[in-house]
Amino acid sequence: MSIMPPKAVAKTLPRRGGLFAGVADNLAALMIGLKYFVNPRRFSIYYPREYPELRQGYRGFIILNKAKCISCAACARICPSAAMKMIRVPVPHPKEPEKTVTKQFPVINYQRCIFCGYCVDICPTEALYHVNYHDIVYDNLAEMFWDLETFQKEPEYRTALEGTPIRLVIHEEYGLVKIPVRGAEENGG
Ligand code: SF4
Ligand code: SF4
Repeated sequence: MSIMPPKAVAKTLPRRGGLFAGVADNLAALMIGLKYFVNPRRFSIYYPREYPELRQGYRGFIILNKAKCISCAACARICPSAAMKMIRVPVPHPKEPEKTVTKQFPVINYQRCIFCGYCVDICPTEALYHVNYHDIVYDNLAEMFWDLETFQKEPEYRTALEGTPIRLVIHEEYGLVKIPVRGAEENGG
């Protein structure tokens, strides 16, 4: 005797009051839009003319201080997205400068990096550090792969050069508001 699978039953979602409910929902949505159009208790960040100030400790781009690197490869091993890899480069022999030896250093692929910060945390010599920004523009994907030379330079932060930093603070009456960074400092923000 064959066992037949139970017949699939198509379920339909309950109707919510038909045409009038649909019109009411649309009117409600329009009213919400209208409320936020006239309500002064709203704000927009006019990025990139304005940009939120990111504090020290923010996990932005990672930079390598090559002089501190001891080639342990802990950063590349812990990276969960295979964004960091070790490469071998020739360096002068420590005792016989006329000779060269090869040494490993990390390089980073920002197409893959998820900014988790594990590599910075695990580095035993603090050779890796974050800058507190993450928004730079690339012309093509290849530029997102930083070679050893690029990895040692903090990238130019054009947003900061051309925009105004703002700080988001909680206002007792208005809730979340934005204020210029200088104003935040004067108010103890
Ligand atoms: S921040 Fe995370 S994802 Fe990016 S390179 Fe470091 S360990 Fe890998
Ligand atoms: S963990 Fe630090 S010291 Fe070790 S290879 Fe990476 S950058 Fe260099």
